Amino acid sequence: MAKSYIDPFEPAHIQRLVEQFGSPLIIVDCERVRAQYKKLAKALPGVDIHYALKPLPHPAVVRSILDCKGWLDLATTGEVQLAQRLGADPARCIHTHPIKRDKDIRNALAAGVRVFVADNPDEVRKFRRYRGEAELLLRVSFRSPGVVSDLSRKFGCDPENALELARLVAKLGITLRGFSFHVGSQAPDARKHVEAIEVCARLLAEAKREKLGVLDTLDIGGGFPIDYLEKVADIGKFCAPIRKALKLLPERVRVIAEPGRYIAGPAAIAVSSVMGRAQRSGAWWYYLDDGVYGSYSGQLYDHGHYPIRALREGPLHASVLAGPTCDSIDVIAEDIRLPKLKEGDLLVGSAMGAYTWAHASEFNFFPKATVVSVNETSGDLGTVLEV
Ligand SMILES: *Cc1c(COP(=O)(O)O)cnc(C)c1O
Repeated sequence: MAKSYIDPFEPAHIQRLVEQFGSPLIIVDCERVRAQYKKLAKALPGVDIHYALKPLPHPAVVRSILDCKGWLDLATTGEVQLAQRLGADPARCIHTHPIKRDKDIRNALAAGVRVFVADNPDEVRKFRRYRGEAELLLRVSFRSPGVVSDLSRKFGCDPENALELARLVAKLGITLRGFSFHVGSQAPDARKHVEAIEVCARLLAEAKREKLGVLDTLDIGGGFPIDYLEKVADIGKFCAPIRKALKLLPERVRVIAEPGRYIAGPAAIAVSSVMGRAQRSGAWWYYLDDGVYGSYSGQLYDHGHYPIRALREGPLHASVLAGPTCDSIDVIAEDIRLPKLKEGDLLVGSAMGAYTWAHASEFNFFPKATVVSVNETSGDLGTVLEV
């Protein structure tokens, strides 16, 4: 039977879904999740793609990755439990939070997850009692002050100290699988990835020479960028220098990546409605039922600049889009040109799957957007899941 998928980002479907499920709404298109997964897999041949749940830990997204025979990157006990609930094979999951409580380690081990990340001696020592059961990747830090979120400031050991840490792992009798890094999210180009791969290739070789472990894994993290208001290079082009750098590695080394944003970002839109309007200082202010404390929280936490449009058409006017709360920072867009809107009109934010709903709050008792997934299976016109 032919598979039937719709494009839920088309206005008629947006309207239908809002009528059915209300506003504000996050519409996740599982067909786009799978398409993003496949595009990245094609751009990084031979690399195992572990979806990092953090930007959008939604069951429909996770299942879509599993449907593609993808892998998972889990960082918290909650994420381990979600993967477990969805029947993910723990052998296809890694646990990548560099700092964990003993109970987090025990919980992940009980779920069958074996590969963990550590970046300092105290964390490595936490695994002494689990040697034989748990295996380690050591996270190395490569600072990227230019990126949106420089994840190497908070985590990772300096490359100069990585071998010393590897020696401690070996001394404690823990299996060392390799190294990992995360150059930071929404990377502007692949230069940091390349630098990090080159350094890690040397570390793998040196640690192997010293017989410090199995040393058959390199985890190149996430950071793969997507289009927002600013456009980025196509993923095939972005990854070209990475593909070249990976050729430095011995054949036996398994390379894995941990994309989050690249998979989830383009796969969802945020739909909100005008609650009311006012004319202030020559501009129309529209007050929406979603704002920076809700799905647009990425504007604060993730420096997000989302393309926003109205479903209504007409001549454009200087407008301001504000969120629903009584706080003055809850303004989504100033200097935006929009048709004249009425109460109930719909606004659509694009590229809003990653780092949006995941860290939304219910400040002022405005509920978080409902998440509706579409196209999880053929003929799925919209499903709201318990999350
Ligand atoms: C957040 C995170 C990711 C995902 O990063 P993106 O930039 O969204 O691809 C991957 N791995 C780890 C350890 C993370 O913390």
